[in-house]
Amino acid sequence: MNQNVAIIGAGPSGLAAARSLDKHGITWTGFELADDVGGLWDITHPRSTVYQSAHLISSKTTTQFAEFPMADDVADYPSHRELRRYFHAYADRFDLRRRIRFGTEVTAVTHDPATGAWTVTWTTRDGESHREQFTAVIAANGTLSAPNIPAFAGQETFTGQILHTSVYKDPRIFTDQRVLIVGAGNSGCDIAVDAVHHAASVDLSVRRGYHFVPKYLFGKPADTLNNGKPLPARIKQAIDSRVLKAFTGDPARFGFPKPDHKLYESHPIVNSLILHHLGHGDARVVADIERFDGETVRFKDGTSAAYDMVVLATGYRLHYPFLDKALLNWTGAAPDLYLNIVAPTPGLFVVGMIEASGIGWQGRAEQAELVATYLDPHTDPARREQFDRRAAGPRPDLSGGYRYLGLDRMAYYVNKDAYRTTVRSEIAALAGLESNR
Ligand SMILES: Cc1cc2nc3c(=O)[nH]c(=O)nc-3n(C[C@H](O)[C@H](O)[C@H](O)COP(=O)(O)OP(=O)(O)OC[C@H]3O[C@@H](n4cnc5c(N)ncnc54)[C@H](O)[C@@H]3O)c2cc1C
Repeated sequence: MNQNVAIIGAGPSGLAAARSLDKHGITWTGFELADDVGGLWDITHPRSTVYQSAHLISSKTTTQFAEFPMADDVADYPSHRELRRYFHAYADRFDLRRRIRFGTEVTAVTHDPATGAWTVTWTTRDGESHREQFTAVIAANGTLSAPNIPAFAGQETFTGQILHTSVYKDPRIFTDQRVLIVGAGNSGCDIAVDAVHHAASVDLSVRRGYHFVPKYLFGKPADTLNNGKPLPARIKQAIDSRVLKAFTGDPARFGFPKPDHKLYESHPIVNSLILHHLGHGDARVVADIERFDGETVRFKDGTSAAYDMVVLATGYRLHYPFLDKALLNWTGAAPDLYLNIVAPTPGLFVVGMIEASGIGWQGRAEQAELVATYLDPHTDPARREQFDRRAAGPRPDLSGGYRYLGLDRMAYYVNKDAYRTTVRSEIAALAGLESNR
């Protein structure tokens, strides 16, 4: 069978996969549920989880594809509207739409161990089901579409509305509402900042403390300050903690619990506006929820308050519904894949299953480049075998020396510098450009 690779999803990761396969002259077919490219950055797409006020939280230079920089007149932290334009322009520039079947949902991906072939089943808008064989499959269907919804005692008695951030779009829903936002991650804080302009009151329920990084430090996007030169974990933590102390001060002053972890041991919250609003009394921090009771929410510290609307900013869970869990080697909250990319069954890859501060789309493009280099028919089979042995062996340390919190949402978290260095060295080893070990 001639090589033909299925790519599931045409967001930033799927586009990066298509681009890399093109560069290596490998035939591919794309499947995308929506009508165009851009993934979650197109707010009109069926699985988009961005909201009207969403902007990048990493700056454009840290985030963009290296071979396709954003124009100088694009803001440092562009909005989802700008990013939709960017991905359209990227697809135009590299002619990536030509092999994407839009309006198709992949419903099953199965493997035949006898032939090594992958069968992809998909449905079209009119409900027709189709299937086709491929030599390899790249799942690039995103990580932020399946909401993580916790259950609370007594929630069935709640007289108000409970919604997850995944369905939140427009801040006008908060008009005159007493709003409780559960979780102060990046989306929770963004949405709390939206809500203060409309709601009757805004409370933010938190279980633990967070570190807050402003978008600008010394007048520059905070993530551009050390110009991409990685520092050892302890030194970076020490320097950046001092800088943050000077700029944002102690988050406990604004009502947050003291963080139970050091800076960068969990995803930092890139938002100083929430502190601004807490400091102005527009919002307040409340404790972890104990239970719901009619219109009242009772908190674990014995306090309680009445609400009309509860927004669960409780994150997302990884979701690959079209793939048997064994094929992806699920272990706990995430598939256990070599470099978060390579599944143990030959020919199955995931691009985009990564969370890291500042990894950007270039980090995802490097994942795609690794897959394309591996699949490239010109790659020396002996080098591919060496790679397979490493992929089957113990997992490399991708923590960069940081002791990440042992939470489900950190199950696929890596340090961007350690990760990108390892991925690049694997690309070089496969391509025979330098020795990997
Ligand atoms: C508010 C917000 C702010 C963010 N800020 C940043 C940031 O500053 N920097 C950063 O790097 N990242 C940020 N992200 C993370 C974001 O996930 C990535 O930027 C990027 O969108 C990941 O691209 P992706 O292609 O992996 O996934 P997605 O963009 O989610 O694209 C996945 C695509 O797969 C399609 N799909 C899914 N299932 C199927 C199926 N079964 N069949 C066919 N098609 C399917 C979907 O329709 C979608 O188009 C942010 C996310 C949010 C929500």
